[in-house]
Amino acid sequence: MTLTEQTMLPPGSTIGILGGGQLGRMLSLAASRLGFQCHIFDPKWAGPASKVSRFETNAEYSDIEAVLNFAKNCDVVTYEFENVPNLTAKTAGSVAPLYPGARALDVAQDRLTEKTFIQNEAKVPVARFEPVNSVHDLRRATKKLGLPAVLKTRRLGYDGKGQYIIKTEGDIEPAWDAMQNAPAILEQFIAFKREISVIAARGVTGETAAYPLIENVHKNHILHTSTCPAQGDDGRAQGLAIQIMSALNYIGVMATEFFELGDGSLIVNEIAPRVHNSGHWTQDAGCIDQFELHIRAITGWPLGSTQPKHKMEMTNLIGDDVKNWETLAAETHCFVHLYGKNDIKHGRKMGHINRIMR
Ligand code: AMP
Repeated sequence: MTLTEQTMLPPGSTIGILGGGQLGRMLSLAASRLGFQCHIFDPKWAGPASKVSRFETNAEYSDIEAVLNFAKNCDVVTYEFENVPNLTAKTAGSVAPLYPGARALDVAQDRLTEKTFIQNEAKVPVARFEPVNSVHDLRRATKKLGLPAVLKTRRLGYDGKGQYIIKTEGDIEPAWDAMQNAPAILEQFIAFKREISVIAARGVTGETAAYPLIENVHKNHILHTSTCPAQGDDGRAQGLAIQIMSALNYIGVMATEFFELGDGSLIVNEIAPRVHNSGHWTQDAGCIDQFELHIRAITGWPLGSTQPKHKMEMTNLIGDDVKNWETLAAETHCFVHLYGKNDIKHGRKMGHINRIMR
């Protein structure tokens, strides 16, 4: 099902969210500001999103009857993580408008499909890549692309998980072993100058909006800080992100991660068909934040302003970092966001802070 271009879902409508983590929580909080109510679908009870939402369904994603019942009670359905099983999303989309659509999931769930789509259909540059299904393929691919190169599982990799940097021929066997026979992709190693991202949205009418350029710094493969506006924002990255969204006929907020090379050229690393960690600073920047922007896009509302009033820096609170909440809360121009997770775990995103930079 789809919303027509003329439809604007009124306040009081129910937004279904597949997935109940922190992104679902912040989507739900933004939706409630506009008078919507949210229904979270997640196998686990009382996760970060359910704690702030009106309704919750706890069932496995493979429980098609539960998915149908959930979607029947929603005016629109969205998702907060890209590994929602495709059948689950398609099932929900058969009884309620599903935004972004199932195609975006197909593309984003598989690095090979994603890179092929971005390069061939959206016509946006990506690192050179080769599919790899065996150690024999891997040897051939390393010859073609040269070393160093990065071997990644096609599916279910995030924050550097399921990745192996191959520096010498001696790394080929251990790298393939690390994939545990999962279909993989070999990518040319990009000696980038910096990592940047674009958070942009496309609405039901095709209207688009993008925030200024964001610069991202990772620590131990996990996003550490995002700063916006980043230096040297000439609008090129936003243009490429919108080119990808248009090729996908995308509705909602999408994140596009880029490598910027020494000569200033841009290569897309990956897309995320959802709100994104590098866009959390928008919450305190004095414009429509990325969560509200997504809700506006999927309910047919006008998108609103994506121009921040301040320079912002977001820092993730990973694991024990969250124990500093008292000190952070006392800091001027620092906004604390905590996700209400029950246990602190090493490497787990527990919250973030947004600082206004003066
Ligand atoms: P990903 O899971 O693809 O987002 O990769 C996680 C991180 O690994 C990126 O943010 C980069 O820092 C690094 N990385 C991924 N792919 C490459 C590549 N082809 N060349 C160099 N570094 C990479």
